[in-house]
Amino acid sequence: MNCPNCGVYNPEERKVCWRCDLELPKPKEPKKRRVWLTPGRLWMIVAIALMIWLLVSYVLLPMLFGTPAGP
Ligand SMILES: [Zn+2]
Repeated sequence: MNCPNCGVYNPEERKVCWRCDLELPKPKEPKKRRVWLTPGRLWMIVAIALMIWLLVSYVLLPMLFGTPAGP
């Protein structure tokens, strides 16, 4: 955006003008970052991971290695 004081261009992420050190106004629409890892999702992931771990340790591993050896 352009500085309201001296009119020079400033990148959006700048908080003060690089030329006159005036505090730049904040953008009108603060972009809300989409939070991917919400607490609810985190618990869901933990639950799924636990289920997968139980499945692997109690079903898959005995299936692969726990079967009695043949004659
Ligand atoms: Zn300025």
